[in-house]
Order: sequence, then structure tokens, then C-alpha cells
Amino acid sequence: MRLILVGAPGAGKGTQARMLGEQLQIPHISTGDLLRSAIQRGTLVGLQAKAYMEAGELVPDPIMIRVLEERLREPDCANGFILDGFPRTLSQASYLNTLLERLQTPIEAVVSIEVERDVIIERLSHRLICPSCHRNYNEKTDQPRVQGVCNVCGSGLTHRLDDDAVTVMHRLDVYLREIAPLKEFYRVDGLLRSIDGNASPQVVEERILASLPGTARTKG
Ligand code: AMP
Repeated sequence: MRLILVGAPGAGKGTQARMLGEQLQIPHISTGDLLRSAIQRGTLVGLQAKAYMEAGELVPDPIMIRVLEERLREPDCANGFILDGFPRTLSQASYLNTLLERLQTPIEAVVSIEVERDVIIERLSHRLICPSCHRNYNEKTDQPRVQGVCNVCGSGLTHRLDDDAVTVMHRLDVYLREIAPLKEFYRVDGLLRSIDGNASPQVVEERILASLPGTARTKG
């Protein structure tokens, strides 16, 4: 299954992509995680992306395209993948179509997770992330077993720098600017499914699975 998740920051794309990835046994590819890890490692891509990310702006397409193409060529993507955070613009979507056509592996579904703005702001103000394995937590609704420590890898949890109130508002505006044409692009292709994301992660996952083409649900 080759799947794209779209949704506002805080809509639950990362959480759903992780859960669906385990269920369908395909990798979860978050371009935000790839960039944060490039910044941590001090690579050229990390240096180029850092200022954009801290300001809540989109990283320029040429950088993003290079990051994504490199990741999609890794062997674990051969049986499918879940994209979280890419594409974010029409030009990224059309680049992705061209790339996947060349590889003869088209996208099979695009799931848009819809969540109200005040829920998003509340979620992001309590979000914690693991800088090592990228698992997300929430200080109120999804706490780690030991306070401040990742359940999966034991690293110390932090808030994302771009989850401060001012940057969150800007990221939401950037999202709203780009999302309508992007959804239209996939609606025309018959790939778009809109899912109500105002529910627990388990309920949202069920809704997404129920919306996917038949083969996806029989695995796992
Ligand atoms: P995310 O983790 O998906 O919320 O992404 C965090 C930040 O990484 C965004 O606010 C952008 O600065 C950058 N970013 C991630 N994916 C993309 C993309 N596909 N295009 C441009 N910028 C991106």
C-alpha cells in the first residue's frame, strides 16, 4: 500500500502513520522527522532547512524533493510506504506523481485527517517528541510510562521548537494556504478520502483502515 496522509499540524498524521505502518507493515516516512534528524546530525540539508523550520515556513521544494527521493529509493519502501508531511504543495504533488510513474508504483490512497483548529492548538501545546526515535506523546492524553522518558528508546522527551504558540499559528496559515489545491489535485484522481480526526487515535485508525482500498485491511 502506498498511502499519503495530509492534515494540519497536530491533526494526528504522525500518530496515525506510526500505527498504520505497524498494522500494514510498511515504513512511515515523515519528511519533518527526516529534516529534524538532518539538523541533529549537522548535515548540509539540515543546515539549509533549519531556519525555515524554526520560522514555520516550508522548506524549498528542491531540498524536499532530494530528501524524499533518497528515502523512497531505500529497499524498505519496495512494498509500500506511508507519507506524512509530503507533499505539502501542488508542485511537490506533481513531482511525486512523475517520480512514482517512473518507478511504476503509483499512490493508492490519500487520506485527509480533518480536525478543528482549537483542538489542534490544544494538542500542539501539550505535544512532546522523542528526538531519537521520533515517537510523539501528549502531556495530557498520551503520557509516557515514565515522565519525560520515551517508552520506546528511553531518550529524554522535548517540546518541538516550532510548537510555540506564534509559530503554530503561522504553520496553520501556511497549511490552509496550500491544502485546498492539493486536496483538489487528489480528488480529481479519485484518491482522496476525508476522515474525521476528532476522536481517539484507535477510532481514527479504524476509520482510515475502513476507507482504504480492500487489500490493505486484510494484512496484519
Ligand atoms: P512536520 O514535522 O511535518 O510538522 O514538519 C515540520 C517542518 O518541516 C515544517 O513546518 C516545514 O518547515 C518542514 N517540512 C516538512 N515537510 C515539508 C515539505 N514536504 N515541504 C516543505 N517543508 C516541509
